Amino acid sequence: MLARAVACSVRGLAGVPVIVEADIANGLPNFTVVGLTDRAIQEARERVRAAINNAGYTFPSRRLTVNLAPAEVPKEGTGFDLPIAVAVLMIGNPALRLDGRGFIGELALDGSVRPVTGVLPMARCLRAAGVRQLVVAAENAEEAALVESLEVVGVSSLQRCVAHLDGSAPLAATPPGSPVAVCGDLADMATVRGQATAKRALEIAAAGGHNLLMLGPPGSGKTMLARAFCSLLPDLTSDQSLDVAAVYSLRGALRERPPTSTRPPFRAPHHSVSRAGLIGGGSGLAQPGEISLAHHGVLFLDEVCEFPRTHLEALRQPLEERAVSLVRSRGGVVFPADFVLVAAANPCPCGHLGDERGCSCTAPTLAGYVGRLSGPIRDRIDLVVHVPRQRFNDLFEAPAGESSHTIRARVEAARAVQAVRNGGWRRARHNSALEGRALQELAAPTAAATRLLALAGERLQLSARGYFRVLRMARTIADLRAATVVGEPDVAEALAFRGEQAR
Ligand SMILES: [Zn+2]
Repeated sequence: MLARAVACSVRGLAGVPVIVEADIANGLPNFTVVGLTDRAIQEARERVRAAINNAGYTFPSRRLTVNLAPAEVPKEGTGFDLPIAVAVLMIGNPALRLDGRGFIGELALDGSVRPVTGVLPMARCLRAAGVRQLVVAAENAEEAALVESLEVVGVSSLQRCVAHLDGSAPLAATPPGSPVAVCGDLADMATVRGQATAKRALEIAAAGGHNLLMLGPPGSGKTMLARAFCSLLPDLTSDQSLDVAAVYSLRGALRERPPTSTRPPFRAPHHSVSRAGLIGGGSGLAQPGEISLAHHGVLFLDEVCEFPRTHLEALRQPLEERAVSLVRSRGGVVFPADFVLVAAANPCPCGHLGDERGCSCTAPTLAGYVGRLSGPIRDRIDLVVHVPRQRFNDLFEAPAGESSHTIRARVEAARAVQAVRNGGWRRARHNSALEGRALQELAAPTAAATRLLALAGERLQLSARGYFRVLRMARTIADLRAATVVGEPDVAEALAFRGEQAR
């Protein structure tokens, strides 16, 4: 006798439907689970057996084999308990209707159904595979219901699940969530007084998706500016919002962020974060790191020089590819990591280089510090802006300046222009991704702008990389004023943000 239930395995954000087959044959009582399983699934045997007995059903006392197919797909986690249990129960109770349904959930020994992480990416996968109704733990129902045109039923126990499946006590579907646009922004540009240059740099960075480095002494407001930067980014589309929620679901972090939020995420890991915490990985089920939690949003690295060099080195690939590949014992995992990097650092180890108190650093420590700044991620940073300490009076007398709302309107307009113009170039949604020939063609500098670039190249000894950096920024500056060609003033402003000091 054979029964089948649909489950899901997830690697990175990619799910694979898994068919749980249960077969009973005559022979000595025995229960085996086959199909490339990890330890948690082997332990599932004990949980499923106890849950079935304690829920008041009879566990088959014959030779029971459960196969998770396809066998070559690696399967991890505890979400397989529930599908295994319903497949086993169906053998003795043909009244259970499993067709068109998928199951995700962990079982407690008393038969209650527990939530698992990663339900959202699994729900997306099963919906795409044709599952119409998904049965999950009650705590996971709201999350799974984010997936469009998927009916989600939350169950608290195996008994409730069985009563739903045999039709004796059908449960209502969980209503779909609605988008939340309000929460998420941590600061408004208007709350930061003065700092006009830094604000302009942030506007350019937001408009072109450029990575940015702020140099300034402690207490100059770098952190406040970084938080306000997030408020300049456009709302996420519903697809992007679901992508972000899927990463948070895998990390079990949906409590930190409403899954229906349409604001870009802001992550600010401390420099003591572990490499796995920042990049992703860990033992057991691979976890996304901070860089993936910042997907479609902002990763803020305060005191960037304090991060271990190996951590910064590991950021190079995600910054290039906008995704991170983690090597695992049973094949690689890929997580998305398309974020804008905002880094902040003191101008020198003592923090007073260029201010009235004067720098007390020795030449070698200063040289070493600049060396750390020009490290692995420097190549991917387009804008460098100095954030001086505000004079006490300026904090009160400087005008409040524009609100984030006003600046965001300009950012959105500039991004719309880029989406149309850059559309033909693969992955170059924003100007920050333009390279080489694409950049040359799309930037379209005027003759005067070209002359200024050539002159700057000569006088300032711009490297090829520095030249492209300036041109990319100039393209965004021109987009902000809705110009089709890059003019001389655009190049001049970009030259001021190229950050020669930290080269
Ligand atoms: Zn110093």
